[in-house]
Amino acid sequence: MARRRRADSQAEFQQRLLGWFRAHRRDLPWRHTRDAYRVWISEIMLQQTRAAAVLGYYRRFLRAFPTLRALARAREERVLKAWSGLGYYSRARNLARAAKLIQSQHGGRFPRLLDEALALPGVGAYTARAVLSIAYDEPLAVLDGNVARVIARREAIEGELRRPARWKQLQALADRRLDAKSPGDWNQAMMELGATVCTPRQPRCGACPVREGCRALRLGLADRLPERRAKSAPVRVRVAAAVLLDGAGRTLLVRSPANAAAQDDDRPAGLGPIFSRLWHFPAIVTSGDSRTDLERHLSAEFPLNGAARWQAIPAIRHAVTFRDVTIEPWLIHVEELPRGPGRIVALDAAGRMAISSASRKIATTALARIDQP
Ligand code: SF4
Repeated sequence: MARRRRADSQAEFQQRLLGWFRAHRRDLPWRHTRDAYRVWISEIMLQQTRAAAVLGYYRRFLRAFPTLRALARAREERVLKAWSGLGYYSRARNLARAAKLIQSQHGGRFPRLLDEALALPGVGAYTARAVLSIAYDEPLAVLDGNVARVIARREAIEGELRRPARWKQLQALADRRLDAKSPGDWNQAMMELGATVCTPRQPRCGACPVREGCRALRLGLADRLPERRAKSAPVRVRVAAAVLLDGAGRTLLVRSPANAAAQDDDRPAGLGPIFSRLWHFPAIVTSGDSRTDLERHLSAEFPLNGAARWQAIPAIRHAVTFRDVTIEPWLIHVEELPRGPGRIVALDAAGRMAISSASRKIATTALARIDQP
């Protein structure tokens, strides 16, 4: 009897949520396709990025790389350029690598087996389950921050959700709740509910299609669950950057070798996360006088020939994950740009290259200051 009641309430929960989703879902371009390649691109873009911010990038990226084959054949530089501005560039690098692997090992088709999908670079449990359920109807429940919050509230689960044991418990609950007949819609419905109704702050319980049976609502805990993660204070980083400029309006961009940059990514005060391992202006982390540190860095790495005129340009604030970065750029008018590693480009063209938003801000600020006293 009790089992039948549970099955009934489960069926009712699924029906209500799916009915609500089908009537109220946001009209997003990736919801018009079940093509695994397109679903995969959207899921990678949506990691750490809001849907509204992804829209334009999604369309442009697919115009540039309409098929997996096109992406697999593209040079990484082109992929990074199409990604430019979206941030977290490791996502684009992994996409490019994974596309090549899919092309060579899976006949150009996103794999259908969970283990094979999980073996691709940049594809974790969430992404694999999302792509396989949406594109191939595989009965796999996703668990992301939105889904975890909905489950935690419905079941009144206390404590920090991201702890490994708790996350495992939430995945098991997500699996149990899954509507295996419509896994793609179901997963999207759970995420949509978390993104638009059961939001982190002030959940709209009055408008919730599954408020019946919600334990957090009944116990008056809806806006207290889940427990907030204690935020640590941001790490403050100061960076001195050199915008070298010759008489023809050209500048020097550099890029750290991949292995050095990857190690740098792990250091709180490393340059890797700030410039996303893309082309950037010569720069150094500084704790003293930015000009003195930069002069020392340039003479060691990019020695200048002839006279140079240094012009201070306004500092730029830039936030990257837990870092609060202040960039102190210098516009350095030189007779000749240093030869050696790096790339010489017109300063006013740098913004069109695959560079991070920090580099783009430096280029824009420098361009605005040229010829000003
Ligand atoms: Fe979330 Fe409120 Fe709905 Fe419960 S009733 S699932 S807390 S929005």
